[in-house]
Amino acid sequence: MHEFNAEVEALAAEVMEYSLYRLKSDPPLDGPKSPEELFALAGNTITPEGLGGPAAMELFREVLAKACISTDHPRYLAFIPSAPSEYANLFDLVVGATALYGGSWLEGAGAVFAENQALRWISDLAGLPQSAGGVFVQGGTIGNLSALVAARTHFREKRSGVTRWVVAASSEAHSSITAAANVMDVEILLIDPDKHGSLQGEAVATAIDSYHAKHPTHQIFAVVATAGTTNLGIIDNLDSVGDVVQERGIWFHVDGAYGLAALCAPKVRPLFKGVEKADSLIVDPHKWLFAPFDACALIYRNPELGKKAHLQHAAYLDTLDDDGEWNPSDYAIHLTRRARGLPFWFSLAAHGTNEYEEAVEATMEMARIAADLIRNHPNLELVVEPTLSVVAFTRKGWAAPAYQIWSDKLLEDQIGFVTPSAHHGQPILRFAIVNPWTKKSDLEAILETL
Ligand SMILES: *Cc1c(COP(=O)(O)O)cnc(C)c1O
Repeated sequence: MHEFNAEVEALAAEVMEYSLYRLKSDPPLDGPKSPEELFALAGNTITPEGLGGPAAMELFREVLAKACISTDHPRYLAFIPSAPSEYANLFDLVVGATALYGGSWLEGAGAVFAENQALRWISDLAGLPQSAGGVFVQGGTIGNLSALVAARTHFREKRSGVTRWVVAASSEAHSSITAAANVMDVEILLIDPDKHGSLQGEAVATAIDSYHAKHPTHQIFAVVATAGTTNLGIIDNLDSVGDVVQERGIWFHVDGAYGLAALCAPKVRPLFKGVEKADSLIVDPHKWLFAPFDACALIYRNPELGKKAHLQHAAYLDTLDDDGEWNPSDYAIHLTRRARGLPFWFSLAAHGTNEYEEAVEATMEMARIAADLIRNHPNLELVVEPTLSVVAFTRKGWAAPAYQIWSDKLLEDQIGFVTPSAHHGQPILRFAIVNPWTKKSDLEAILETL
């Protein structure tokens, strides 16, 4: 619509200035507004004549951006925050400016090569064989679904006469596993974890065997273990679960969307023993590996099985698959894809893996400091000792509504963003610390209000 004329040049300066401001300074926390409030401020932005670049940019800067919470704010501790490194964010600008296509080797060989090295780093940390490989997909939900579809496709070749396919997981597993089961129209068998919330091999063995005995034409095709629950950071016993799943010839999938990032931290790596038995695993670099949204690393022990399930055939596509080259599109439920693993790759390549190790260790150290502050706080009680970097606690004497009121006010006062959750039916608060810029003083500022 425009060449890169003087007008575009001026807009570029403005866009870069705003981007640099957001990268350089502590972001404001900000917060949502209602559609009515936003309409009053922004009006109808889609017009036949167009607003022009500067006006549209001003609208974004002054109205729209301010109605979005900064997920990289050091006192954003709700859900799982985001904490992209400056390098990763800067490189995201490059990815956006270069119209890279990340779906096929033919079109994006350089990008795919780099993404694959970043995947290799994760795969090696997990102890998977050199033949392992995968793709960066949009998020853990799509990663889990793609892996489970591959698992079922594989099992269908091994066993006929099955009237119902079943995926098994801990009752503490992430909601995306249930969502995947619904999309796939398969049954989900939920297995109770031990009293610490960690799924154990023995419980899985009993659950699988008694289920199959009761339902001879049903088949459990995959077991999902969680390597770091979102709510509390609890890790299933990957070693014992992996063994009983393998013994039964079932696909072992490890959902480490949040927690497997900590594989790079030697202090906690032993907690993930058994992850090397996985047939597939996921980890979201947009959670705890300092990458911007949205990137989930999906890795298969045997990528051929992923490809068997996901390769799309069409007359105009088959030219891509002639030379046996690595086409990322073939390994998940997607076709067109942005090279979304590149900001993560750039940050990892530029900083080196030692800095990743240090940054992840630092967030876990901050979680231990948070636990101490909570233990010594007169009104608070720790729910469990943090395993990774999630710290869960309760406020003595408060019922659920009081937690929500407190949380709303904390955001309104622009102090922090911490939302209530629940554990065993009781309301809790949790700090999810993935941001190396979250300091003790940030935690204290929030805890003072409790
Ligand atoms: C966040 C999370 C998911 C879902 O990942 P998205 O990227 O949000 O789709 C799945 N499993 C676990 C354990 C998670 O923490």
